[in-house]
Amino acid sequence: MGKKDDLRSELQHLVGALRNHVANERDAYNPVSRLTMKREPIPRREEEGMGGLSALKPSAKAGTSKTPPALAGVREELGDCTRCTLHRTRRNLVFGEGSAGAKLVFVGEAPGEEEDKQGRPFVGRAGQLLTKIINAMGLKREEVYICNILKCRPPGNRNPKEDEIATCEPFLLKQLEAINPEIICALGTFAAKTLLRTESPISAIRGKFHDYHGRKLMPTYHPAYLLRNPDAKKLVWDDVQKIMKIL
Ligand code: URA
Repeated sequence: MGKKDDLRSELQHLVGALRNHVANERDAYNPVSRLTMKREPIPRREEEGMGGLSALKPSAKAGTSKTPPALAGVREELGDCTRCTLHRTRRNLVFGEGSAGAKLVFVGEAPGEEEDKQGRPFVGRAGQLLTKIINAMGLKREEVYICNILKCRPPGNRNPKEDEIATCEPFLLKQLEAINPEIICALGTFAAKTLLRTESPISAIRGKFHDYHGRKLMPTYHPAYLLRNPDAKKLVWDDVQKIMKIL
């Protein structure tokens, strides 16, 4: 291929990448456009890795690079949230972390003390056990997404209040819309009962897939419960194996 052709291929790639970059930026503020906008196929450069253009290329593999704009847009909209009173006592807002293209999202109740300190979900003792469960599923923490119904710690780890849930859950829904996972795993009584709007005990609803806004949701025991009741680990293992079968 001649120099001219090289240049043309490079320019075509650059234009395609820029178009998609602009579209992705727009998505961050308008999630609906993400569902309807047509993306340009980006012409491949003949020799990938040359010319330093790859930094402009929108990430093809979700979750392998920085947070894609749709999820970043949700974070931006949440901002330094003061929508409920929990902002007065929190140290850090805990948005969530993991792969923005995850097929599996774990949803807990609310940040605890350690999560509040670090601004990261499930990093205390229960979190370490969750990480072990994820690893036992053959996955890495970075390959799934982990978040909570509430983004701020209730003082003294008290149960979340209804108005706090009503204020925060819409952001969970937006996160899920941005990530678009196949399966949600609700951790513990509180998360499962809140998300499924049920009074049934976790023992009755765990181990089966339920519908949450058109997505499969598997309730299981919270890792903190497993720390107190190690016998229940076997049941959680049964539940996550059902998830793995689908993934
Ligand atoms: N428990 C939860 O429900 N969420 C966390 O992030 C930590 C502990």
